[in-house]
Amino acid sequence: MRIGSKKRSGRVAVIGVGVLGACVGWNLSRHGADVVLIDAQRPGEGVTDWSFSWVNASNKTVRRSYFDLNVAGMAAHRELAGTIGPDSWWYPGGHLRWTDDPAAEANLLERAELLAGWGYRVEMSTGAEVRGRLEPALAMPDEVPVVLYPDEAWVHGRRLVDRLVGRAVASGAELRPGTAVRDIGTGGDGSVRTVALSDGSRLDVDIVVNAAGPDASHVAGLVARDLPMRREPGVITRIDCAEVPVHRAMHAPHIEIRPDGDASMVLHSREIDALIDTGAEPAELARLLHASARSVVPALDSARIARTRVANRPIPADGFPSVGAVPSVPGYYEAVSHSGITLGPVIGRLLAAEIVSGRRDELLADFRPERFAP
Ligand SMILES: Cc1cc2nc3c(=O)[nH]c(=O)nc-3n(C[C@H](O)[C@H](O)[C@H](O)COP(=O)(O)OP(=O)(O)OC[C@H]3O[C@@H](n4cnc5c(N)ncnc54)[C@H](O)[C@@H]3O)c2cc1C
Repeated sequence: MRIGSKKRSGRVAVIGVGVLGACVGWNLSRHGADVVLIDAQRPGEGVTDWSFSWVNASNKTVRRSYFDLNVAGMAAHRELAGTIGPDSWWYPGGHLRWTDDPAAEANLLERAELLAGWGYRVEMSTGAEVRGRLEPALAMPDEVPVVLYPDEAWVHGRRLVDRLVGRAVASGAELRPGTAVRDIGTGGDGSVRTVALSDGSRLDVDIVVNAAGPDASHVAGLVARDLPMRREPGVITRIDCAEVPVHRAMHAPHIEIRPDGDASMVLHSREIDALIDTGAEPAELARLLHASARSVVPALDSARIARTRVANRPIPADGFPSVGAVPSVPGYYEAVSHSGITLGPVIGRLLAAEIVSGRRDELLADFRPERFAP
């Protein structure tokens, strides 16, 4: 089903207003659709606010079509920054990556070569050059090879969501924060008709977009759809520092670091994520993250751990996005993905076009929800 395909209002309920729901909702409102944005909490305060938020395709070489989608995501971010303005959410400047492990270094250099062969911009430097030219605060060996991906970026996810929601509301979208979707009603032909909300109200709608992030499997269950998802939690720590000593996002040995505004930074590490299921307390994980960060950026000695959260990545079971219509439930669409910060703007654009016109874009061919049909 698509908007205008039958004699009803064509109202769309976007369920979940993180980066994916906000991108879909804003694009729909630009197309003139009648949109209601519904979020159980405040928009942008789900995983989108607890993400490393690195916009990249260099970590997405597992499948060529997935890499291509992420490259399109990077381009869509640049276009979005041109359309809505970049201030407060869009931080280009590239991404640095180096390691202290010889095997990992060989993999890093091999991947850089592969990416360069795929037309991705890659620049090679040494530790001394990076310190001299880009990041004076880093402690790293002079001769260590450092890969710079100059087209990569980081995003302030919550502020991006605020910006998009503000624009969508200004063009007529309705916002229902603090309201959960409890049920989705379908008609005799199985198509979507209503959503029941936690405030006791029920809305007539023709289309729902499941953008519920880590809770997407539950929302899919409301239309008796099985969306299998992985459990892959990650821990993010924000530290406060009087002055942010680095200028871009980076993968340093054992720690990922990025700025998060004027006096705050975000820390993450896959190695520390692996400790979540050992029962370690978030405060202990935060201390480990801070210790690793200090060994790369000594100026962070005086930084203070501010907030830490364990969040579940919204990952469909095979690791790839689930985006588009589910033909067995007319009017039901999915926008569920890890790397949702990178992919939000491109998924938002393509899915909104599909809902409005019925046109299915080839870029999403490998990421269709039908692959999870029972
Ligand atoms: C540790 C970590 C690091 C990451 N690093 C990166 C990275 O570097 N780069 C990258 O691109 N991606 C990264 N990601 C992934 C990225 O953050 C997510 O893919 C993205 O934020 C998902 O956005 P979303 O809108 O789908 O989910 P969310 O932001 O969680 O939004 C979903 C919303 O749905 C709402 N909701 C749920 N159920 C209901 C309901 N029944 N009714 C109404 N509302 C509901 C929730 O309240 C929530 O606000 C990372 C994730 C983690 C955990």
